[in-house]
Order: sequence, then C-alpha cells, then structure tokens
Amino acid sequence: MAVRKSAEVHPLPIPLLVHIVNEWGDAPRIEAHEGRKPYPTADSLRAESPAFWAHFPAFDETTLVETANLIHPIFASTTGAECAERLNGLISEAAMTPVLSSEAWAVHEVWQTARPERALLAGATLSLIDHLRHEPDASRLGTCVGDACVDVYVDQSPGGRRQYCSLTCQNRARTRAYRAGKRAATEASS
Ligand SMILES: [Zn+2]
Repeated sequence: MAVRKSAEVHPLPIPLLVHIVNEWGDAPRIEAHEGRKPYPTADSLRAESPAFWAHFPAFDETTLVETANLIHPIFASTTGAECAERLNGLISEAAMTPVLSSEAWAVHEVWQTARPERALLAGATLSLIDHLRHEPDASRLGTCVGDACVDVYVDQSPGGRRQYCSLTCQNRARTRAYRAGKRAATEASS
C-alpha cells in the first residue's frame, strides 16, 4: 500500500482569501449578474505572487471555484455556532490536522493535510482559523448588504460595524438612501 504523504498547510493572507472568494465564488458572481462572464484565470492569480504559490501544487480555475464556494458560507454564517460547525466541516473536508514541529528548542504548531489536492482549501481554512485565534468574533466575517452584492469582507474596524464589502457599495447605498429620503420629503410636502 502506498503511504500517503501529508503536506504542510500554508495559510493564505486574508486579502488574498477575500479576493479568491469574491472573484471565483458562484454566489458573488451570480448576485452581481456576472455568472456568465468567464472566470479570471488561475495563471493571472499565480502571476501576482509566484513565490507564495510555489508552496502549492498546481491548481486550475475549477479548484478556485470549488474553494471559493466552500469558503463563502463561512462568511455568510448567521451565528458563531454555524461558523464553527462549517469550519469543522472544512477541516475534515481538507483532511487537516495540527502537528507540533520543532527547531532547536522552539516548538510550534503547524497544520498538515492528507489531501494535497485540497491544499488551496486547507490554506484558506487555516487562514480563517488563524484569524479567529486573534479575533474570535465571527460576526466580523461578513457578506456585503449592498444591492446586487454578496461579496465577503473581514471587518477590521475598531467598532466592528462594517456592512459593506467596499466604499463603492457603501456610497451607492448612501446615495440611494439620500434620494429615497428626498423623494419622501417631496411627497410629504406636496
Ligand atoms: Zn458589496
């Protein structure tokens, strides 16, 4: 029987994770009426940071779409319990386990995956685990409340009240609210 080699999991930087979910995820694309547009290529992503991707086995657009579709529900969780349950699901899906490794006297935790073909999902999952270790408030992982947008974001504001993926979505909503308010005022005075 062939021994299955475990690979070390490399966490994705959070902005990269958010980028992948929003560019390749079906939910954000369909909500933005971009479901029929061709996906950006995996090569275009790798070209942005070739040194980082050198840690990963080759992947294509299908892998990016699968990963994005599995990660989006974490951001769409409505309770902490749901978020935890979904992340536990991803840990088993990517066959991830923590192991301790050492360098001289320094002992530290690393994660391995028994499914190297799931390295991207494992890296995405680990980046969320790492994030929650520092910021356990899972309500800060959110999806945009803007029109035609369910893009994900990580709220790093001091107050933790972010609701939009971007200033573009926030400004669009403000303009709309302003116009609606003006219309209501005009109707009330006529
Ligand atoms: Zn948005």
